[in-house]
Amino acid sequence: MTVAGVTTRKKRAAPDGTLAPDPGALLAWYDRHRRRLPWRAMPGDRADPYRVWLSEIMLQQTTVKAVGPYYAKFLERWPDIESLAAAPLDDVLKAWAGLGYYARARNLHACAKVVSVEHSGRFPDSEEALRTLPGVGAYTAAAIAAIAFERRAVAIDGNIERVIARLCAVEAALPAAKAEIRRRADALMPARRFGDFTQAMMDLGATVCTPKKPACGICPWVDACAARVRGDAETFPRKAPKIEGKMRYGASFVVMRSDGHVLVRTRPAKGLLGGMTEVPSTAWTHHVDDEAVLRHAPLKAKWRRLPGVVEHGFTHFPLQQTVYLASVPAGSKAPAGMRWVPLAQLHGEALPNVMRKVVAHAGLENHPGKA
Ligand code: SF4
Repeated sequence: MTVAGVTTRKKRAAPDGTLAPDPGALLAWYDRHRRRLPWRAMPGDRADPYRVWLSEIMLQQTTVKAVGPYYAKFLERWPDIESLAAAPLDDVLKAWAGLGYYARARNLHACAKVVSVEHSGRFPDSEEALRTLPGVGAYTAAAIAAIAFERRAVAIDGNIERVIARLCAVEAALPAAKAEIRRRADALMPARRFGDFTQAMMDLGATVCTPKKPACGICPWVDACAARVRGDAETFPRKAPKIEGKMRYGASFVVMRSDGHVLVRTRPAKGLLGGMTEVPSTAWTHHVDDEAVLRHAPLKAKWRRLPGVVEHGFTHFPLQQTVYLASVPAGSKAPAGMRWVPLAQLHGEALPNVMRKVVAHAGLENHPGKA
């Protein structure tokens, strides 16, 4: 029997009474309930590899809702790979500011250049070749290969991981469970419609098989789901106990010049938040030394420590940042390696989120947080 363009599998009952998951049932559900996303091709249309790639890079570690406005902005400004490759990196970093994980923006730009120069502006169409591009890891390569080029590739994102872990009641905890989840997902692939099947599993995880309170009653795989039969779907995927990073501390120095300029500098190109803009700040360390902190101030001034701290969570550690404020007269020179930026233009700088919080904490007018 053929459903949604895919031959359905003969249903077999497992010892727990579940039936074999039917890829055709999921595709039929997808044909009716697919999410309309700006980077998705309409049914019957070919997906644009540039749009698929751009969205997949932006969606790494970020939600669909947060990505929407950034995707629209990038596409309007750089409608194809050639225009993005020709853009100055600084412009790309500025447009990216606020999306976080800034290495992605640098890799995005590097990848555009490689595709433009080494691949004549066309994305390679195999998973293996896609993996050689900057910023394109195993998941992203598989997703682009399946969605943009209809290749048989197994892409496992967080949504798919959850669906498979529940469907098959995978007992191993993440990250050790990844190999089994991949094997199970691979076994489920239909004979065609690889891109749709991948996106169908993403959509099922995002809209039905949600982390909390999965809507099993409307799930196309309800009769096949081992976790649903057991009644403990929410406990999958199993997770190993989390190791929290140790708290780090730092200080930022916000210097206002009386003619409405603020002192900033560019972080080194390599390392955390590389190439981004910051107000002068100390390194982030595990110890606080309030007495010594003013030794790191960028210039001599009457410093005032602001009450409270800025709290921020990086991937590997939480941060508490104290903020010091000082004013200097108009005409004051910027220390070596630093520059003055008119306050009204601060929002155009490539400020990472932690620095947005710092300038907001300092109560600067026209800062990005108040835009
Ligand atoms: Fe997820 Fe429930 Fe569907 Fe199982 S039946 S895949 S737990 S929504």
